[in-house]
Amino acid sequence: MSQPKHSRLKVHNTLTRHLDDFEPIHPGRVNMFVCGPTVYDVSHIGHGKSYVAYDIIARYLRKKGYSVFFVLNITDIDDKIINRAKETKEDPLKLSERYAQAFYKDMNDLHVESINLYAKASDFIPEIIGQIQGLVDKGIGYKIAAGVYYDISKFPDYGKLSRQNLEQLTVHRVDPDPEKRNPGDFVLWKNQKPGEIAWNSPWGKGRPGWHIEDTAITLTYFGPTYDLHGGGTELIFPHHEAEIAQAEGLTGKKPLAKYWAHTGLLSIKGQEMHKSLGNFVPIQEAIQKVGVEALRVLYASTHYRSPLDYTEDALVQAASLARRFRRAYDQLQLAAGNKPGVRAESGNLKQQVYESRSEFFTAMDDDFNTPRALAAYIRIVGMAEEYAKSLEPETTSMLLETMKELAAILGLLETQSVPRQGFIELVSMLTGLRNELRAKREYAISDRIRHQMQKAGVTVEDEAK
Ligand SMILES: [Zn+2]
Repeated sequence: MSQPKHSRLKVHNTLTRHLDDFEPIHPGRVNMFVCGPTVYDVSHIGHGKSYVAYDIIARYLRKKGYSVFFVLNITDIDDKIINRAKETKEDPLKLSERYAQAFYKDMNDLHVESINLYAKASDFIPEIIGQIQGLVDKGIGYKIAAGVYYDISKFPDYGKLSRQNLEQLTVHRVDPDPEKRNPGDFVLWKNQKPGEIAWNSPWGKGRPGWHIEDTAITLTYFGPTYDLHGGGTELIFPHHEAEIAQAEGLTGKKPLAKYWAHTGLLSIKGQEMHKSLGNFVPIQEAIQKVGVEALRVLYASTHYRSPLDYTEDALVQAASLARRFRRAYDQLQLAAGNKPGVRAESGNLKQQVYESRSEFFTAMDDDFNTPRALAAYIRIVGMAEEYAKSLEPETTSMLLETMKELAAILGLLETQSVPRQGFIELVSMLTGLRNELRAKREYAISDRIRHQMQKAGVTVEDEAK
């Protein structure tokens, strides 16, 4: 089926604070960068919310026909990593590699499959040094004892993303380093402290600051400007502000990213999720508890820019919806093999499916409004549940196709505990067996089979005994 033509994608852009028409720099192509994790620990379901949101965005952009190049960075050198490595008496790069591997597994298990490339900061040291050198040559970067810093007074646009002016950014700051030209200047290259991991540079041994890794990576893959930059709302300042200053200060080309899309935080019973608060839920734990489909339904039920408060209730509700989607799809697939039903369903139902499908796309075009899209999807599932047994074959396949098509955008209906074909054969074998048992009036065994099938999400309805 073709996509509804009437609506166009709009994206809320942090840079303009507007709902902007989405028009990539190069027609048909989207270069997209999202801030990835600092790998010193396992990722929790709050991280999951953000990465699933960008996964849905990338899936949707591809669905709209764009060729998307999605890069996510991995911060594998950082104070937090160095401190953790000291505690565990491990090599910091070995520790970060271990958690990077855990992160890739998390993304894989969450069905975040739209990322084309994971870029690790430590693989870009020459590019990072090149960028800092460029800033030093322009008089924007300067060396002091602690390392190389960025002089924010040299970049008049500093503050444009977070909507702060230079004055706001420089007052009320306690700054221990009197060598800095402005209190708000941020570090590009940190000189080595005794015992720390370090790389050679024109300014002595040291390691990159956090902000510079992103711009070194994006300049390498995308050039000076690209389409979409993502990350949590908490990264707008100073991290993303600093990225803009580095890239635009160096290349003179702007904007670094045309659209800035930020995700809202996940809280747990109103509190931030943190190990020290004892409310930390690792991604793997949540997947084991309720399954990936339930988690993805939970994430999609909140708009990506909104905060999400994680409660048991919300999770149970999401899990029951995910099961409902799967059951409706399976029932419809089973019904597809049967002869057409007797109840007249007419062209009206097809029209209703088509309208809900249009509504799904309209919602996604409205700044990737997944809660609205999900509501449209639930309406389609409702039709499948109501009419599964009485549909014309053509309508059945249209419904199946639509359910699968839209689920693929949200990353649902992708878990298969048993290979699909095998599952269907198993269900029809059990159904046949039950019919034989019932013909022999072996109701106790046939009811046990039905009960077990229902537990596995397959509804069996019998005519009166
Ligand atoms: Zn970043």
